[in-house]
Amino acid sequence: MTMRVCTGVVSALLLATPALAQDLGPHFRKIADGIYVQTAREVNSNVGIILTSEGVVLIDSGQTLIDTREVAEAVKKLTPLPIKYIIDTEVHPDHTTGHFVFSPPAIVVNHQGAGDAMRKAENPNRAQTLAAQSPEMAQASQGYRLVVPHIEYQQRMTLRVGERTLELIHLKNAHSEADTAVWLPAERVLFASSVAIPNSLNNVRAFVTIPDILTATRMLRSLNPAVVVPGHGSFGTTAIFDESEKYYTLLVERVGAMVMQGRTRDEIAKELKMPESASWAYQDRWPSNVDAAYRAVTQK
Ligand SMILES: [Zn+2]
Repeated sequence: MTMRVCTGVVSALLLATPALAQDLGPHFRKIADGIYVQTAREVNSNVGIILTSEGVVLIDSGQTLIDTREVAEAVKKLTPLPIKYIIDTEVHPDHTTGHFVFSPPAIVVNHQGAGDAMRKAENPNRAQTLAAQSPEMAQASQGYRLVVPHIEYQQRMTLRVGERTLELIHLKNAHSEADTAVWLPAERVLFASSVAIPNSLNNVRAFVTIPDILTATRMLRSLNPAVVVPGHGSFGTTAIFDESEKYYTLLVERVGAMVMQGRTRDEIAKELKMPESASWAYQDRWPSNVDAAYRAVTQK
């Protein structure tokens, strides 16, 4: 009798309890009540899953379409409610290719300029290229089409969904043509975009400037978040911003000293070594980093 009562209580509890992060698979972590992050592999892009009483908000949609499909399965385990919004932290395909899996009905949001940049960079053969990668990818890419933001905001936008408030903050010239940080002030959770990526060099494109990166990083740190989820890599604290700021500051200092000694941009890229970042991923992005520091120093 006692056994039966206990079993009944346990099953009732199990039914009432939402899925635990570990039930979602090894790529998912719970970072706050009703907020999860998928990090499929260390340097891959993150997906944020934010549950609300009115539906789900996703932050980006996966490094690969296999990751996207995994997110779709995880959301089904977490809630019967639909995915209402996808907020893009940048325009690149490793954050945006999966949108078609959720939209419609999901509404995609990013800063002004995102749609133009995505259309311009789109590979017309993307579906075939993806499908050729593996049978698993062929399956995951079925139905692929480019989905650009339905809503493009300017500077800042507040989105209220159920009990949650999300503040979208544009980061100018920080990584891609349209970068958005997503700040949840009540939960003190910050999705910080790819302006700072832990333990990795970034690809610093020609329109990105180190002063703009530093401005964005300092502004994000001043929000005083408890949890920082970067666009790629493990989530953590504002130490992610400290590391990034230290790196770019040292880089500009060292490039500046070499410019004073009359070294050319190419000589600097070859001769300058940064032991502080030697173990980071994507060392092939080094020339773009030196280039940005050179531009910062010489204003050219
Ligand atoms: Zn990117």
